[in-house]
Amino acid sequence: MASSHTVLMRLVASAYSIAQKAGTIVRRVIAEGDLGIVEKTCATDLQTKADRLAQMSICSSLARKFPKLTIIGEELVVWVDPLDGTKEYTEGLLDNVTVLIGIAYEGKAIAGVINQPYYNYQAGPDATLGRTIWGVLGLGAFGFQLKEAPAGKHIITTTRSHSNKLVTDCVTAMNPDDVLRVGGAGNKIIQLIEGKASAYVFASPGCKKWDTCAPEVILHAVGGKLTDIHGNALQYNKEVKHMNSAGVLATLRDYDYYASRVPESVKNALVP
Ligand code: AMP
Ligand code: MG
Ligand code: MG
Repeated sequence: MASSHTVLMRLVASAYSIAQKAGTIVRRVIAEGDLGIVEKTCATDLQTKADRLAQMSICSSLARKFPKLTIIGEELVVWVDPLDGTKEYTEGLLDNVTVLIGIAYEGKAIAGVINQPYYNYQAGPDATLGRTIWGVLGLGAFGFQLKEAPAGKHIITTTRSHSNKLVTDCVTAMNPDDVLRVGGAGNKIIQLIEGKASAYVFASPGCKKWDTCAPEVILHAVGGKLTDIHGNALQYNKEVKHMNSAGVLATLRDYDYYASRVPESVKNALVP
C-alpha cells in the first residue's frame, strides 16, 4: 500500500502538469483558427483538432512517465477527457471547456485534476488565463475557493447542447428557482463548488466515465455527492462500460432533496 500511495501522488503531480500542457494546446488550436471539426455520432457529438492533439499529448506523457501504468492498471485506472465541452468550444463559449484527468483505485474515483484553459478569459488582458483544480479523496481539493450556493434556492445546472424530454422533465421536478444551461461536466461541477449552482441534473445517457471521474473526486473531496439519477455510486474499474447510462445527479449540499424529487417515470426510463 505504501508504494501505491507513492505512485498515486506521483500520478497526481504529473496529471497536474500534463493537464496544464493540454490546456495550452486547447488555447493554441483556437488561436491558430482551424478547429478541424469532425462529427462523431451526430451534429452534437463533435471532435476537434484540440481534442485529438490534447489526447495525444496526455496519453504520450502518461505513457512516458508511467510505462507500467497498464500493469498497475489492474488497480489504478486513469480516465482522460482531453477536452470536455467540445460543442461549446466550437461555438466560442470558451470558459465551459475543461481538460479532465481522473484516477480510480479498485473501481473508486480517488484523485482528479481539472484544467480550465480559458478561466478568466473575459476578465481583461491583465488577468491570468487558465487554472488547474485538483483533489484527492481524504486530502481535499485545491486551486479554487469553495463557496456555498444561495441558501434555500434551487439553482439547477444542466446540459446546454444535449437536452431532451427526460432532461427537462427531471429539471422541472426539482422545483427550480433558476436553470443554468452550460456545457461540460467539469464546468458544471466547478459551478457547484463555487456556489453558482445547487445541483447538476442530467437525466439522460450521453455522459461518459471520463466526464465524471475527475469532477466527482473534486466534489467528493469537499463533501459533495455525485451519483447516477437512481442514487447509485459510479464505478470506474477498467471493465466498466463507458457510458453513464443512468445519467448524473450531483450536489455540494442537500443531495437528498434533489434525489427525492427525481420522477419515477424518469427513473424507469434510465437503466443503469
Ligand atoms: P454536456 O452537459 O451536454 O456538456 O455533457 C457533458 C459531457 O457528456 C460532454 O462531454 C458531452 O459531450 C457528453 N454528452 C452528454 N450527452 C451527450 C450525447 N447525447 N451525445 C454525446 N455526448 C454527450
Ligand atoms: Mg466530455
Ligand atoms: Mg471530450
